[in-house]
Amino acid sequence: MSTPAKPVHAAMDQFVTQGGELHVDGLPLRLLAARVGATPFYAYSRRLLRERVAQLRTALPAAVKLHYAMKANPMPAVVGLMAGLVDGIDVASAGELLVALDAGAEAAEISFAGPGKRDPELLQAVASGVLVNVESMRELPVLARASQALGRPARVAVRVNPDFDVRGSGMKMGGGPKQFGVDVELVPGLLAFVAREGLAFEGFHLYAGSQNLNADSICEAQVKSYELALRLAADAPAPVKVLNLGGGFGIPYFPGERPLDLAPISANLQLVCERAARELPQASIVIELGRYLVGEAGVYVARITDRKVSRGQVYLVTDGGLHHHLSASGNFGQVVRKNYPVALSPGLPGRPLGDAREVASVVGPLCTPLDLLADRMDLPVAQEGDLAVVFQSGAYGASASPQRFLGHPHCTEVLV
Ligand SMILES: *Cc1c(COP(=O)(O)O)cnc(C)c1O
Repeated sequence: MSTPAKPVHAAMDQFVTQGGELHVDGLPLRLLAARVGATPFYAYSRRLLRERVAQLRTALPAAVKLHYAMKANPMPAVVGLMAGLVDGIDVASAGELLVALDAGAEAAEISFAGPGKRDPELLQAVASGVLVNVESMRELPVLARASQALGRPARVAVRVNPDFDVRGSGMKMGGGPKQFGVDVELVPGLLAFVAREGLAFEGFHLYAGSQNLNADSICEAQVKSYELALRLAADAPAPVKVLNLGGGFGIPYFPGERPLDLAPISANLQLVCERAARELPQASIVIELGRYLVGEAGVYVARITDRKVSRGQVYLVTDGGLHHHLSASGNFGQVVRKNYPVALSPGLPGRPLGDAREVASVVGPLCTPLDLLADRMDLPVAQEGDLAVVFQSGAYGASASPQRFLGHPHCTEVLV
C-alpha cells in the first residue's frame, strides 16, 4: 500500500504496511478479514490503544487523572481494555454505565454526565455508587429521592456551563446558551440545594468542546475552567475532590491537519496542578478523552465488490459505507465534506496491488449519494475483492452510525 501523492494525511503510518499489505498488530489484513469471517468490519489495535495511553502518561503530569469517555467507542472489549489502563470511565447513559461496570470499571471511578438523565437512570447511578455530573436543577430532587430510597447519598459534581467559550473546537459544548451543564450564574443556588438535601458534593465538571487541534486554546480553556471552579468552590458545601477540566484533544482527520502538540498542554496542566495543590488541596485534576485515546487505533475495512467507470470517473463500490461509518462519509458534524485517510490493501492471495494509480471514489451500497467514503482520491488501481481501509476510525464509528438504514448487514467489531 502506498501513500497517496496528494493531498497528504498526517495519520496513516500508525499501522504497519509490509509487502504492500496493511497489518493490524502483526496480522496481515487479508488474514484478519478471513478470521473475522465477513467484511465490512472495524478492527481496533490493542497495541495502539496501550501505546496511546502510555504516551499520554509520559507526557502529562503524574497528578493528572486520565478518564476515558466511552461514547467514543463503547465496544465492551475496548471498554474492558481501557478500564484497565486509565483512571476512570465517563459514561453518558445508564446503558453505557452497565457496559462500564460489566467491563470491570470501579464504580468509584465512573462518572455519569449528559443532559436529560431519566429518573430510572439517576436511580441506577446512585445505586451503583458512581459520580453524577448534574446538568440541571431538575436532577437534584430526583437524586435526593433516590438517596432516601436507597439509603446512600448520591455522589454529585456540578457540570458547569461556563461564561466563556473556546476557540478551535470542532464542536462547542460550553459557553453561551447550551443544553449541557448548569449556567454558572445558577450554580450557587444549586449548591445550596445540594447542601440542604445532604447529597455528597464532590466537585465540578467543565467541558468546553471536542476535536480541538489547537493546544493554546485547550490550555486557555483549562486555565479558565480551573479559575471558574475555584470561584465556585467558595460556595460549595464540601471541599472539591474532583475537578474535571474536560478534554477536547483532537486527532488529525483531514489533509493538512497536524497532530496535537502535547508539550504546551502538559506544561499548562503542571501549573494548574501546582495551583490546585495550594488552592484546592483535596482535588484531583481529571481530564476526559474520547477520540484522542481510541480514534487513531481503529480501521474500518470494506471489500470492493465492483469497479465501475461512469463517464470516465472510477467508482470503487464496496460492501461498507455510511450505514457503518457515518463520520467518514462526512455526515456526522462536518460542515464541508473532506476525505478521511483511505488506503487500499490486497484482498486476494497472490494478487498484490500494482504500482499503477488512478483517481477513484470509494462508495458504499446505499442508494444515496451521501454514501461516499472517499471522494476522488489518488489510489492504487484496485479490483473486485481488494480491501478499502478507512483510518482514524476507532471513535464515533459503528455506534455512531445508522446501521439499519437500508437494511444491509451490520458490521462486526474486533479488538486485535
Ligand atoms: C463527547 C464527550 C467527550 C469525548 O469527546 P471526544 O471528542 O471524543 O474526546 C468527553 N466529555 C464529554 C462530556 C463529552 O460529551
